[in-house]
Amino acid sequence: MCAPFRPPEPSQVPVGRHPLWDEALAAVNRDLAATLPEQRPLRLTVYPETADPDEQVYVALSDGEAHGNPLMPYESAAEALTAVADAAQETVSERLWRVWPVCTLHDLGMHPREVDGRPSWWCAGGSREGDPAHVRAAIGELPTAHRLHRPNRKRRKGGTPR
Ligand SMILES: [Zn+2]
Repeated sequence: MCAPFRPPEPSQVPVGRHPLWDEALAAVNRDLAATLPEQRPLRLTVYPETADPDEQVYVALSDGEAHGNPLMPYESAAEALTAVADAAQETVSERLWRVWPVCTLHDLGMHPREVDGRPSWWCAGGSREGDPAHVRAAIGELPTAHRLHRPNRKRRKGGTPR
């Protein structure tokens, strides 16, 4: 007889099962790639113990490790994006032990927040007057960290040797 197979590890949620979360995660992964290029993309994960009709989906690192709460049902695409960004932040902060994402103007951790209906990375701003809280960027549109390390090596191949 075959014993039922239960994977001991969290398993990846097939792409397409939760299209709005897939879409949201793609946006958040753009921010991750822009700010932590050494990290592999996050993914949606479900833990076998909780895999039932109302399965609990987490945002996990590429190795399947997640932290925090499962994603909650959403009412709109904006809500789904904000929730996925929030879950991603929780997982990255707790699993990688780092503040993410960081506002490069204030060196502060930012938080996902819907501002004027747009899911955004919100920064509390500086402590001085005249340096108020602000939206750094829409989620999915964080600028690339400015540590471009690009040796200027543009040699043409196939040039005629002397
Ligand atoms: Zn800031």
